[in-house]
Parts: sequence; structure tokens; C-alpha cells
Amino acid sequence: MLSSKVARSLSLRSSSPWMRHLNSICSNGSSKAASVSSVVSLRRCLSSEASDWIPDVSMDTDVVHGGVVPCEKTGAILTPVYMSTTFVQESVDKYLEKGYSYSRTNNPTVKMLEEKVAKIENGYDSICVSTGMAATASCINAFMNTGDHCVITNCSYGGTNRICREQFVPLGMEFDFVDFTDPKNVEAAIKPNTKLIFSESPTNPTLTLADLDAISEIAQKHGILHVCDSTFATPYVCRPLDHGADLTIQSLTKYYDGLNIGTGGALIAKTPELYERIKLIQNMHGNIMSPMTAYLMLQTMKTMGLRIRQQSASAMKIATFLESHPQVSKVVYPGLASHPQKELADRQHRDGLHGGMLWFDVKGDPIKLMDSIKRPWTLCENLGATESIITACAVMTHANMIREDRLKVGITDGFIRISVGIEDPDDLIRGLDDALNQL
Ligand code: PLP
Repeated sequence: MLSSKVARSLSLRSSSPWMRHLNSICSNGSSKAASVSSVVSLRRCLSSEASDWIPDVSMDTDVVHGGVVPCEKTGAILTPVYMSTTFVQESVDKYLEKGYSYSRTNNPTVKMLEEKVAKIENGYDSICVSTGMAATASCINAFMNTGDHCVITNCSYGGTNRICREQFVPLGMEFDFVDFTDPKNVEAAIKPNTKLIFSESPTNPTLTLADLDAISEIAQKHGILHVCDSTFATPYVCRPLDHGADLTIQSLTKYYDGLNIGTGGALIAKTPELYERIKLIQNMHGNIMSPMTAYLMLQTMKTMGLRIRQQSASAMKIATFLESHPQVSKVVYPGLASHPQKELADRQHRDGLHGGMLWFDVKGDPIKLMDSIKRPWTLCENLGATESIITACAVMTHANMIREDRLKVGITDGFIRISVGIEDPDDLIRGLDDALNQL
């Protein structure tokens, strides 16, 4: 079964767009053509003729094994770290026969992670880059030019908002920051020069959802690309490509890594043509992930499903506790009946899972809460890891926003964002209860 799957995938990859692209970009821009057999070799130098698999394995099996096969030469179960800048060619005639030439363009360890991420996200292929922001920048660089317009959520991750305003607007691109909770707002903002619809679901930090099916339908109707930043959801909770999106962005720094080890980003394409474009951007910008980070993420992401199941269950327990606490005026978690988009969350999220992120509005001084909260809570800015993290957004992650703008998107002065880890949820509740009771 696997051999026929690999064969199908190889024949797809050796069909014109990917091959044309490989020909044009391989080895640092040389025009030397790569043959179909180079692509076959590119896969084979990573893989063995593996034994058959049962068909239609679930996401849980795929996060462990998907895209990865043991080393052909040694049988090593883990993909080796190919820490090599360049790859020796046997002759000019056999140039690129093994598929690799220069690690800015293609590296075997990074390629394996790209294959695995694409498999889990149900995409054609992906590029893995140095951070989530590099994935976002690559996406806008790939599909927008001077004079082009983008409809983007008004409540995106702060870094996304900043790069649009501070780098792409001065380059002559236009961005309309729109409330994506109603897809009608998205359609109303489309202009003749709109090239990209940029959603994020759920959003960081307010946890509002975008109806991805409805927004993808609008994008298709108008011939516009739809990219979704799905970092908060992860593919284990929601796969935007299954809801009609053309591209998905992941900050791999968060749940894929999950252990606070490394930074990374992925941009996943639904079609060979889109992949061809983003692969070219990765090669031109030189922002490919390092092989060592790719090696680590190939391992850490195997436990993503287990972590997210635990984190979702603990987040629900903590959110329920917070809703009943007198020092808390509001709790937002997509699993709570009180979430304004609960019906959409249940429809769009897999298997009743809503992830490990939640926020609450504290009555009283948020700084006092932060100063008095005890371990295992950790006061810092990352999210999605095994360690539970608490952040006072108004004075930490969003301190550089003008207060009115912050309030407009729902980030109140007492806004406390929580990333639930995998510790015992009862310990986390005790820590929160102690700190809240001191206010
Ligand atoms: N997208 C979202 C939703 C995020 O929360 C973040 C970071 O917090 C990013 C993108 C950027 O990721 P990175 O920090 O890996 O660049």
C-alpha cells in the first residue's frame, strides 16, 4: 500500500509544475534541468521500500508516522539530520540525480518535515521556514504586489498586523482590517484589486472564529486566494484546507513543537501551482528552517495529538472553574456554552476539541494577579507548550497598542490569556484560585 502511495505521489511530483519548478530553482538558480528520476531519488534517499500499511489510518496514527519512512541505508527510525550545506554531484550529466544540491533550496531533513506537515494538514506540499512570521511574510510576498489589496481580519496576531502596516503598506499594498466574525463583512470589503483574504481562526488573543467554509466560498466566487493562520487551532482541531482554504499558515513554534524547544513556521499549499510559487519564495528569501530544528520538530510533533487532547480537556476544566469565580467577570473559551460562536466552534473543530487557549477578564489589578501567581504557572509570552503560560496582554504582548484600539478589538485592561499545558489541571486551578483570592 505504501509503495503505491509513494509511487502515486512521485508521479504527481514528477508532473510538470513541481518538476518545472525544481528545474528552475534547484542549485541556487542554475538552469540545469532535473530529470524525473532526480525527484524519485530525492524521495528514495530518504526512504526505503516500506512494508504495506493498512488503508485510511487516522490523524492519531498520521501525526506519528505520516510522511516519514525509515532511512533506506541504515533502517534508522528517526530521519537523520543532514547537516550539510552542499551535496556532491557524481557528474554534470548526473547533476541533481539524488535530488539535492544546496541546503538553501532543499535539505533532506527539512524536506521530510515539509512532507509530514503537508500530510497532516491535508495539503499538496509545504515549505518550512524559520518562524511563523517568516511563513506569514512569505505568503504575502508570494501572492501580493504593489497596488494589490488584501482583506485581513482586524484581530490577527500582533506581528501579522504590524508587518502589514509597517512593511507592506509602505511598499504600496493595501490592507482592509475587517471583522471576520460575519463573512458578509469580508465580501463587502472585496475590491477589484483584492488578491488575498487573510483569516485567522481562532484569533490570538481574543479567540474569535472565522467561518472558513463561508469565507472560502466567497474567495472562490471572486477568484481570490484564501489563507488561514491556524496556529491556535492546529490541524488536530481544524484543518483550513478541508474547509476550502487555499493555504494554511502555522507557527510551528507553538503546538507542533509543543515543548518550548524551537521556532519555526510552515506555509502549506493545497495545489502544485501554489506550492511552486511558495517554494520559489523560500528559495529566493533563503528563510528555510535549519535541519537541526526540522529534526527536533519531526520528533516533538508526534505527541501533538496527545498533548492537544489533554490541553483541551484541561482548558475546559479551567474555563469552567473561572466562570464560577467571583473575581472574574468574563471567560472566553470556544468549548464553553457561553462562547458567542459555540455553534460554529462545534461545527468547525474536530472531535469536540477546542484547543488549549482561553482568556478571562479579571476584576481588580491584573498586575497584582501576575505578581502573585505561583508555579507551575509561568509568566512569559509563548503559547502552545507543555508548560502552562499566563500573560497579561494589556501590559505584555499588546502593551504597544493604543488603548482605544486595544479595547476596540476586545483586549480589555484586565485581559489575561492562558495557554494551558499538560500539568495536572487541579494544580493549575489551585494556583489560579490562590492568586485570584488575593485580589
Ligand atoms: N500566528 C499566530 C496566531 C501567532 O500566535 C504567532 C506567534 O505568537 C505567530 C503567527 C508568529 O509565530 P512566530 O512567533 O513563530 O514567528
